[in-house]
Amino acid sequence: MDVRSGGNTDVRWCPTCGSDLSGPAGFVTEYWKAKDRWFLTWCSRCRTTTQVCLPHRITATEPEH
Ligand SMILES: [Zn+2]
Repeated sequence: MDVRSGGNTDVRWCPTCGSDLSGPAGFVTEYWKAKDRWFLTWCSRCRTTTQVCLPHRITATEPEH
């Protein structure tokens, strides 16, 4: 598990309110599930805990044109 608090992560903004999480009041923890990168964030401004996934691969369908 990699724990980071600061500007050295790919998730820097609160997914709920958009506040900068790189300051001392923000918290970002990175962990992995298989090849997917997950981030647990906490924002002191809106007091929300969220999870963000940066998937290794996305499979999606495309509607017919
Ligand atoms: Zn927030």
